[in-house]
Amino acid sequence: MSTEKTDTLVVGAGQAGIALSEHLKSHGIPHIVVEKNRIAEAWRSGRWDSLVANGPAWHDRFPNMEFDGCDPDGFPGKDTVATYLENYARMIDAPIRTGVEVFSAERNQGRPGFTVETSEGRIEALNVVAATGAFQHPVTPPMVPETEGITQLHSFHYKSPDQLPDGGVLVVGAGSSGAQIADELNRAGRKVHLSVGPHERPPRAYRGRDFCWWLGVLGLWDLAAAAPGKEHVTISVSGAYGGQTMDFRRLAQEGVTLLGLTETCTGGVARFRDDLRDNIAAGDASYLGMLDLADAHVARNGLDLPPETEARTMLPDPQCVTHPIRELDLSKAGIRTIIWATGFRQDFSWMKVDAFDENGRPRHQRGVSSEPGIYFLGLPWQSRRGSTFIWGVWHDAKYVAEQIAIQARYRAYRGPSEHEKAAAE
Ligand SMILES: Cc1cc2nc3c(=O)[nH]c(=O)nc-3n(C[C@H](O)[C@H](O)[C@H](O)COP(=O)(O)OP(=O)(O)OC[C@H]3O[C@@H](n4cnc5c(N)ncnc54)[C@H](O)[C@@H]3O)c2cc1C
Repeated sequence: MSTEKTDTLVVGAGQAGIALSEHLKSHGIPHIVVEKNRIAEAWRSGRWDSLVANGPAWHDRFPNMEFDGCDPDGFPGKDTVATYLENYARMIDAPIRTGVEVFSAERNQGRPGFTVETSEGRIEALNVVAATGAFQHPVTPPMVPETEGITQLHSFHYKSPDQLPDGGVLVVGAGSSGAQIADELNRAGRKVHLSVGPHERPPRAYRGRDFCWWLGVLGLWDLAAAAPGKEHVTISVSGAYGGQTMDFRRLAQEGVTLLGLTETCTGGVARFRDDLRDNIAAGDASYLGMLDLADAHVARNGLDLPPETEARTMLPDPQCVTHPIRELDLSKAGIRTIIWATGFRQDFSWMKVDAFDENGRPRHQRGVSSEPGIYFLGLPWQSRRGSTFIWGVWHDAKYVAEQIAIQARYRAYRGPSEHEKAAAE
């Protein structure tokens, strides 16, 4: 079997792989991007039908191309994002090969680089970059045994209300996915219960500026790492219905029953932690904290942005918050579906290299791994808060490409003795 050779092999053609291709090209680094599905597959088949970007079109994009025909302050739909990324790949003439799955990558012995086995044959590369995404495999807590009459699915497999059996729905998890899905199902006339864990919920907009703008001017996208213990606090934000602040009290007013964190489910009875009030309060605190930071920024810089005092007025606590339900007989409550909006895990099992800690997590600094020649891109908090976002990964890709280019220069270096030897030959 013939072996193809390249300098850098990029695995994955989502936004991370595309952004890296642009930067590698600008450094003149020969590379190939392999993608087991289609370009931007996650935005095509890994999202529900009505999903729109969390950030406005002016913000959630790469610097060198705008969304075609989109209101810059609007929120592009998932297919528009996929088309954008595909067009971007075409614009930069990225060397992407779709339908090529990588099975393994192993360091060569006694010579530089890695041998990579793919569905289309063997590739040898001096560098391998895992741009395979932070949200790869749905994680469903094994909490509810398969129960007749109850359909369970992960948010990854949710498409639209019509796909679900008739009846009520329990949505577990109130990050951006869970909260948006609960809202959609409620609007579609379903009886919805929503299990709300710890979360942050920034204002969608404040004083005439979207929260993406606020995070930018306040330097919060650039936070180098989550505060200790904060890593797993999900952010609940939505661009749906033109963009609105995720307000759990509003959802309750519109008919959603809020519950605390789901703890157990036995004999068809689900039990919830007595933390709903605390979780709502912590979400409020994050929301109000953002308003405070924004107000301080306006005052300090003398900005002419209209005050919005009403943003601080909260709806009254609904009964489900003041008298939280701790136990729910799913069948008596008419629940026929559970949607687990409980997150994802990554999969690096194909990487047979020394770049992982004892828990299997990438060992790296800003994407440069502990195994020379192995790089990561698109990891949560890879360099900053924005690392998994469309615009943020572009900046991380720039850094990773620079590091690859620096190593290429070291490799190309020839010392005096080598020059003498070459002259003598
Ligand atoms: C529900 C949801 C909504 C989101 N909304 C937004 C948003 O509005 N704005 C925003 O900025 N971010 C958003 N994100 C976060 C992030 O932008 C997306 O998850 C994005 O898809 C990540 O891009 P990526 O290139 O890092 O990974 P992916 O898009 O997942 O791309 C990785 C690619 O690698 C391929 N691959 C994996 N393994 C292999 C292999 N072994 N061989 C070959 N190919 C392989 C996959 O097929 C995939 O196409 C959202 C995430 C989720 C889950």
